[in-house]
Order: sequence, then C-alpha cells, then structure tokens
Amino acid sequence: MHEFIIDFHFMHIKDNLEALYREIPPCVKIVAVSKTHPVERIREAYEAGQRLFGENKVQEMTAKQPLLPDDISWHFIGHLQSNKVKYIAPFVSMIQSVDSLKLLAEIDKEAKRNNRVIDCLLEMFIASEETKFGLDPDEARAILSSPAFSTFKNIRIAGVMGMATFTPDERRVRKEFRLLTHCFYALQSEFFSHDKCFHEISMGMSGDYKIALEEGSTIVRIGTAIFGGK
Ligand SMILES: *Cc1c(COP(=O)(O)O)cnc(C)c1O
Repeated sequence: MHEFIIDFHFMHIKDNLEALYREIPPCVKIVAVSKTHPVERIREAYEAGQRLFGENKVQEMTAKQPLLPDDISWHFIGHLQSNKVKYIAPFVSMIQSVDSLKLLAEIDKEAKRNNRVIDCLLEMFIASEETKFGLDPDEARAILSSPAFSTFKNIRIAGVMGMATFTPDERRVRKEFRLLTHCFYALQSEFFSHDKCFHEISMGMSGDYKIALEEGSTIVRIGTAIFGGK
C-alpha cells in the first residue's frame, strides 16, 4: 500500500511535468515552484528531468538546497530583504524579484564575496492589486541610469519579471502581460541594446501561463500544475 502511494505521487509529478514539456516550447524555461513542498517531491521532479526550481522564502530555500543534487538551478522568486541576500548568494542562480537599488547593491556585494555573478530580473509592477511588489517603469529607469548601477560587476540584469492580477478576467491578465512585454522592449532599447544578456520575460503561473506564452513569456513559474495543491 505504501509503495503504491509513493508510485502514485511519482507518476503524478512526472506526468504533470511531461505534459508541460510537451506543451511549452523548448526555448521557454520552466521554473518548478517548489515552495511549501518537501524535498521528496522536488526529488521526484528532478528524477523526471526537471533542473530549474523556484522558492520564495530564504529560509526554506537554504534548508532544501543542501539536501538536493548540485546541478539544480535555484531561482529566488519571492520578496527579498537585503539582510538575507548573504544566505542565498553562494548558490542561487537567479534572483527574479529585484525591486530596489539597495537590494541590487547588496546582491552585487554578496556575489562578489562569493566570487560569482548572479543573474537578476527586475520585478515590474503590472497588477492592479495593492499587495504586489515591483517597480514602475520610471523606477526601473532610475535604477539602471544611477551612477551606483554602473559600478556593479557581480550582477547581470537578465530581464524582467511580473505577476498578473489574480482574476478570472483573461482580458485583464493579457493586458498586464502585454504591459510587461512592452516594458521589457522599452528597457531593452534604452539600456541594453548592446547587451544580449537582457533577454528574459518571466511571466505566467499555473493559472495563466498559456496567456503569458502568447504574450511573449520566456520563463514560466509553475507550482500547483506540477506539484498539486498545497
Ligand atoms: C507561488 C508562485 C508561483 C507559482 O504559482 P502557481 O499558481 O502554484 O503555479 C509563481 N510565481 C511566484 C512569484 C510565486 O510566488
């Protein structure tokens, strides 16, 4: 009976991932959002071939990382306090949720201490909900044109990230994703026209990734559709 349950879960995650691999074009990265799920579930996804995982809490990410294989790429996707950057800087491959110059300066400092370059996305505010974090286009411009920014050698701005409003209104979600894509191209032409590293648009979760793909997403962040409900 016990064996059966383990098998069932294994099939479940593997099947979910394989369906996503079939559906999502290979040029789009799938971040398996493993927050709240135990390492055994992450290992099941790993066995199915998944190598990119996302967590939104520093403590949870640093607890799980040493228990899992080294060839996993960890993306941090939650709100990040500057004083906690040091805990993830030794291993994190991308921080998707950069929303201030202060945070970026801290990431640069800690990346340097670890002899690394850390990829970062600028988290843009696209939703109409008060609770979501993120920059507006002028705040992003202010960061990218600040004198401090030009001194950062250990971060690489790889693109933008955004979360749409949690709503069944697909037109609204599409409009918000379109805004993020527009924002990406505006920042690209203004600040990164000679920098191929700036190429990612991270948008789309379990409920809205299909719309996000139609609107130009290059990274989707999918939790529930892989691991099931909490
Ligand atoms: C939890 C989370 C996701 C994944 O959400 P699902 O609806 O479970 O796919 C994606 N992005 C961020 C920032 C998250 O916190």
